[in-house]
Amino acid sequence: MNVEKVLIVGGGIAGLCTAVGLKGSGAVVEIVEQNPKWDVYGVGIIQLANALRALAALGLAGEAIAQGFPMSALVMWRPDGAPIATLPQPPIAGPDFPPQNGIARPKLHAILQKAAQAAGARVRLGLSVQAIEQDGERVRVAFTDGSQGVYDLVVGADGLRSRVRQLVFPEAPSPQYEEQVVWRYNLPRPPEVDNIWMWMGDPKVGIVPLGPDLMYMFITDAAPGQPPRYPEAALAEEMRKRLDGYRHIPLLARLQEQITDPSKVVLRPFETILVPAPWHRGRVVLVGDAAHAMTAHIAQGAAMAIEDAVVLTEELRRGPSLEAALAAYNRRRFERVRKMVEMSRQLCIWERTHDPKADPVGVTAASMELAAQPI
Ligand SMILES: Cc1cc2nc3c(=O)[nH]c(=O)nc-3n(C[C@H](O)[C@H](O)[C@H](O)COP(=O)(O)OP(=O)(O)OC[C@H]3O[C@@H](n4cnc5c(N)ncnc54)[C@H](O)[C@@H]3O)c2cc1C
Repeated sequence: MNVEKVLIVGGGIAGLCTAVGLKGSGAVVEIVEQNPKWDVYGVGIIQLANALRALAALGLAGEAIAQGFPMSALVMWRPDGAPIATLPQPPIAGPDFPPQNGIARPKLHAILQKAAQAAGARVRLGLSVQAIEQDGERVRVAFTDGSQGVYDLVVGADGLRSRVRQLVFPEAPSPQYEEQVVWRYNLPRPPEVDNIWMWMGDPKVGIVPLGPDLMYMFITDAAPGQPPRYPEAALAEEMRKRLDGYRHIPLLARLQEQITDPSKVVLRPFETILVPAPWHRGRVVLVGDAAHAMTAHIAQGAAMAIEDAVVLTEELRRGPSLEAALAAYNRRRFERVRKMVEMSRQLCIWERTHDPKADPVGVTAASMELAAQPI
């Protein structure tokens, strides 16, 4: 192992998976998380085949599937209800695992929190990094609570608005708003909804099983200029309105009527960033959304974050030196992630511009093929 003391900034998917990947390596691992409650919002996450493969490498796929909803395909419908395509996923995580999974974010978060702590990571909440200095041998970190630490490696896993990125990669681009937002809402799962279903109209509507009794609905919606803001009390009505054009589909008409609680509507903008390679500078390295964030159109953001953690920790264990390990991490990750960022952005642009040449089935299938390639 190339490092003895590791600081992970950010206790989300990328940071926690990195801590799990370092289990048994002998490194002392510390996580700092700025959210004092260390919680996540309550809708769901799609885990396609490669996300499950990466979780399996960390020993966590079984738990995620047990707490989620195993699935095998993405089914696309026209807005009039006619079928367009069914895209099956290969079961690449291994014979014991299904091709894909849907899981509530809080459940995935709890699995990762428990696993990172069981791996020996020490977690400090409600603080962040204030300053980072390195001299080639060590990284000195000043924290926002006035404390300080010295580390062999700092992992920036602090998401889209990464403070580590701002401090160590000041020339990196800022996140870009992609002029589309997504509305989400948890609903009881009707028994017939057993895969990801998407209606490819304007707006696009999808439903995703998350457990035996739970699923979520998402609606992607063009929003040029700035992300729109609504008073909280209006959110359920605004989301319902976007389903008016789907009332001829009995399932969607029934689900529309169940969107009643404005406090349960989760409205988020799509933002992207791709930090140019390399994603390390000296002894500081970026993983997950801190290095690359993408729109959710191919459900690969968290999958890429988990893969980053698997690859980085594999290379740290085997690299002849820290520099060689970080260079190998970049080599294995950058091009694959760049293609995922581009494909998801392409789908987003086609949707919001109503491009007649759009090929969502082709690009989605291509993203699944890329996802299935070895990492
Ligand atoms: C609408 C939407 C839907 C999505 N759906 C999917 C999906 O279905 N499947 C999929 O694979 N991906 C999906 N994604 C992408 C996925 O959510 C992200 O890629 C993933 O959460 C990235 O994980 P992360 O750990 O890098 O960042 P985050 O999840 O953002 O975690 C970062 C952590 O760092 C903490 N933090 C932030 N700043 C600091 C700081 N300065 N100091 C200390 N701690 C800090 C945060 O509190 C947080 O705990 C979706 C994204 C969006 C926006």
